[in-house]
Amino acid sequence: MAIVIVFHGELKALVSVPLTDNGLAVQVYREASVKDVVEALGVPHTEIGRIEANGLEVSFGYLADPKDRIDVYPISAPADFSRPSILRPEPLNDTRFLADVNVGRLAILLRMVGMDTAYKNIHSDAELAEIANTQRRILLTKDKRLLKRSKIIFGHLVREITPKRQLIEIVRLFDLAGRLSPFTRCLVCNCVLRPVEKEKIIHRLQPLTKRYYNTFYICPCCDKIYWPGSHKTNMEDMLKSICLLNG
Ligand SMILES: [Zn+2]
Repeated sequence: MAIVIVFHGELKALVSVPLTDNGLAVQVYREASVKDVVEALGVPHTEIGRIEANGLEVSFGYLADPKDRIDVYPISAPADFSRPSILRPEPLNDTRFLADVNVGRLAILLRMVGMDTAYKNIHSDAELAEIANTQRRILLTKDKRLLKRSKIIFGHLVREITPKRQLIEIVRLFDLAGRLSPFTRCLVCNCVLRPVEKEKIIHRLQPLTKRYYNTFYICPCCDKIYWPGSHKTNMEDMLKSICLLNG
């Protein structure tokens, strides 16, 4: 049987077959969910914000009927996963991320602006899917195939190339600008930093740091010490340059 699928907006760039203005006529030879049909055409389900069958919103499990017209719309900014939708009935309580190894530098920048971002460069695809599912995190990756795994409910295919532009992409997509708390999270292990008295860690400081700085933070997980001069100035310059901070 043939169904017609029309991809909208930026989803068109993800489709792996030539597109026509009137949509794709797709032959479906067995009973297949709309998720399977759409993903076979190259579009991971994580990128989809809404699916309509003949004008009515449907879920990923919808089984296409002959002569159906299926409209597939992208997730558009601001992406709000805190509200239930037909495609994702169980919303997220918090915006927390999980980064694939191909966006490792983005993970560090997200931690830098205070976003909870799990990242280890040793996970297999199956492990990433499992962690994203059980910890209810948004998986960030440049790997389209990984995002087709059905265990992954929330994810995003990172489009930009440079880490700095990737950070802007994520901040805009999830409307994070008002929710950032820069320099509150350990860049190494993602734990929230705590203030620590200078006297308690003074024996670990270099002479110049000892002399010029009085405010210190420590990571309760890995014991790393942070202070305003450690990397804050460079990061502030970067954040200002991408308009995430005022001034
Ligand atoms: Zn740490």
